[in-house]
Amino acid sequence: MKVVETAAELSQLRGKMPGPLGFVPTMGYLHEGHLVLVRRAKAQNASVAVSIFVNPTQFGPKEDFRQYPRDPKRDLALLEREGTDLVFMPPVEEIYPPGFGKWVDVGRLARRLEGASRPGHFRGVATVVARLFELVKPDRAYFGQKDAQQLLVIRKMVADLALNLEVVAVPTVREPDGLAMSSRNTYLNPEERKQAVVLYQALTLARRLYDEGERDAAAIRRKMTALIQKQPSAAIDYISIADAETLEELDEVKPPALVSMAVKIGRTRLIDNVVVGQGMH
Ligand code: AMP
Repeated sequence: MKVVETAAELSQLRGKMPGPLGFVPTMGYLHEGHLVLVRRAKAQNASVAVSIFVNPTQFGPKEDFRQYPRDPKRDLALLEREGTDLVFMPPVEEIYPPGFGKWVDVGRLARRLEGASRPGHFRGVATVVARLFELVKPDRAYFGQKDAQQLLVIRKMVADLALNLEVVAVPTVREPDGLAMSSRNTYLNPEERKQAVVLYQALTLARRLYDEGERDAAAIRRKMTALIQKQPSAAIDYISIADAETLEELDEVKPPALVSMAVKIGRTRLIDNVVVGQGMH
């Protein structure tokens, strides 16, 4: 496994890697959710590259960029074990050289949900992923359904920029009790960790109500809200039931619909989602 920090080293090695190349962009502090993406990339491609880069431009000024957990040594050991061929761990200046100005804005999609709560977030995400694609030149890139809106934003960007690569979506990997795996779960204290399962419980409730024939989005949201509010440490940022492609809010649930939410458990902001009406998580 080769580990490189500069674009120059990367491009030198990239030329020698057998294609197709599968690429998994991450912010590190890897867990099983990331590793499932790597395994999928490994199964579908001749070579696999992973990036580890905590991208400053996707964090708001009051967000956790500085505190975001980092453990590159452990990450590299895990990636080595998965048979990763190349790891790109650039310093910030390598991605954003002085005078950098090639920002990517994908429009309306990026301003809903997470974009509404975190202004500028998806501009940062789209820009860094475009930059990484430019440097890594993957044939396929792997993203988790856990970040459903991110996946839509990336697909839109790939279409807008006519990039010649395939975006592959991978289902959310969960802890045994249903909590979606996330590097941010490490912020939770034991009591909060117990309460955090309520996100998954609320999504399960939404799915059950839908399966039982409920189509009134407001009614589903109300029941989800009531369930979440039973947890003393939980504060809802948003609960959304939206068209799974446009992310327009629905009054009447029409499949496929994305049920998604952001909930703070104590000081930790968690997101999760399910798609209803298409039989996948
Ligand atoms: P991050 O390091 O949080 O930026 O995540 C890197 C990639 O891993 C993104 O495509 C995420 O959607 C994906 N990912 C993170 N957590 C999970 C999970 N629990 N299940 C599946 N994919 C995930």
